[in-house]
Amino acid sequence: MIAFGPVPSRRLGRSLGVNNIPPKFCTYACVYCQLGRTPNMQVKRERFHGSEEVVKSVKTKVTQADEKGERIDYVTFIPDGEPTLDIDLGREIDLIRELGIKIAVISNASLMWKEDVRDELSGADWVSVKVDAVREDTWHGINRPHGSLSLEKILQGIRDFSQSFGGELATETMLVQGLNDNVEELNGIAEFISEVSPAVSYISVPIRPPAETWVEAASEDSVNAAYQILSSKGVETECITGYEGTAFASTGNVEEDLLSITSVHPMREDAVREFLAKANAEWELVENLIKEDRMVAVDYEGRRFYVRRLGPGHG
Ligand code: SF4
Repeated sequence: MIAFGPVPSRRLGRSLGVNNIPPKFCTYACVYCQLGRTPNMQVKRERFHGSEEVVKSVKTKVTQADEKGERIDYVTFIPDGEPTLDIDLGREIDLIRELGIKIAVISNASLMWKEDVRDELSGADWVSVKVDAVREDTWHGINRPHGSLSLEKILQGIRDFSQSFGGELATETMLVQGLNDNVEELNGIAEFISEVSPAVSYISVPIRPPAETWVEAASEDSVNAAYQILSSKGVETECITGYEGTAFASTGNVEEDLLSITSVHPMREDAVREFLAKANAEWELVENLIKEDRMVAVDYEGRRFYVRRLGPGHG
């Protein structure tokens, strides 16, 4: 099935997924990939399903959704591989645009040094790019790129795209313990991200079984450090911890709301106290959540923060 959903997505509302790449053709073989290893590693763009087939599948799903009265906010290219390997991506975006629905593409950015790829992506409304590393050895360790790729060229491609793109740019950084979660790498990543100034920068950890069994999610400490470093550079940052809950809408249940907010934004102790006071709740609630291992306290630069315990698969 090329088009699937629509499924609720925190980032994009109700999103109709498009799987324009057969499993799994990719330019990377990330150690944390939830699709397993990459048997089809390539950088050459090619025709996979063809634009006609892809657009037909999207149109069928849109019609079905219409009939059921289901809303679609975005058509999202989120395939089992790297979407920009599809040489028809630009045409697919152009044709889907005619349906009057916004388009999102989630890419690893490894082909953004190519002008044709940047041009085609500029037809989307929302583009997310992967920034797991800005240092050569870390990049090789975590993303295991195709041998012909150059990190420097990719980063420059992202910079160039960020300057010309009229839509919303997002970055996604996956933190893996012992690979890219040290302060030096985090500072470098944050420096680069602040330079391209995305609408939002997402920090995540592997929460599904990774390609390599030795991969472990970064700790809550590192997630919080990344969050604080990025925020200190003025980057709008959100964590993806596996428990999104209702972070963007209050349920009126203090415990649930606190867990939801801290799953996305680590909260400073004074902010938690203020939140509890407003809700007429006691500090004991936080102590209980920590005892139940649903929330953790982490320290960063002499201040205490509260973070939602990371999701399933952690550690
Ligand atoms: S870029 Fe995405 S699909 Fe490709 S190996 Fe990495 S996680 Fe998997």
